[in-house]
Amino acid sequence: MKNSNLFLRVILVSLFCGLCPVAAQPAGEPTTREMNLINWQEFARFVPQKIETVLLPTGTMEPHGVLPNGSDNLAPEAMSRAITQRINALVAPTLNYGVTGSMKAFPGAFAISEEAYRRFVGDILKGLAENKFKNIIILNGHGGPQTAILRSLAGEYSETYRVRILVINWCSLAAEETREVFGENGGHAGNNETAYVQAIVPEAVHPEWYSREMATPYPSGSSWYAAPFPSSIGLYEEGQGYPTFDEKQAKEYFRKVNDRVAELIEDVVAKWDKAGLYR
Ligand SMILES: [Zn+2]
Repeated sequence: MKNSNLFLRVILVSLFCGLCPVAAQPAGEPTTREMNLINWQEFARFVPQKIETVLLPTGTMEPHGVLPNGSDNLAPEAMSRAITQRINALVAPTLNYGVTGSMKAFPGAFAISEEAYRRFVGDILKGLAENKFKNIIILNGHGGPQTAILRSLAGEYSETYRVRILVINWCSLAAEETREVFGENGGHAGNNETAYVQAIVPEAVHPEWYSREMATPYPSGSSWYAAPFPSSIGLYEEGQGYPTFDEKQAKEYFRKVNDRVAELIEDVVAKWDKAGLYR
């Protein structure tokens, strides 16, 4: 009796599933959100009909205290993956090399010239626009001159290709979240960046190699300037921003930063749509 019931169920399920060819995939959801993994036929079915937004993580290779040299790449990449479904976007391959400034003398650091970076990123923005994305979200994990270049490219390429481009510097954007979680300001490879990276690759964070002397507060205004900068941990404010290596804070910070970034994107895209800009 049991066997015949099972047989009947198999027949019914088979008949039903014959009507829905990709039963495992939720309706309207691509098999992957990663541009590295998606196939061209599926890309054509989704972009731009169902997906208008792309996330482009940008960073660089530079020292980060006891974090990996690629922290500026790992953070925006993980952030993109965490929010891609929520904001209905694809994630473009990360730009792992960038314009490293005062820390390029440290072992394992790389610096791309501003001129080369500008042309390279410009061509990528052009390619994303030609691939019919309407909203290009640059999630930048690295500060310094790279920020200014990305902003100027956004202005230029948005106008030329009639696309909407948003540049987000997550470390600055999440300043409030840093204060909420740590009760103070952050820093380069400080409490904030350490927590975020610890949440994604805890095995690559080395508190056993850390000492407070590794950190230097950034100079206020033009009080002093050192080339190269003497530390790989730079504090935004004196006496604040030292890494905590606290697992609970890391998880909380990861969640709060992702929410903050997703909220900003949702807000800006909704306002672009409402205003009918470059539709
Ligand atoms: Zn960094």
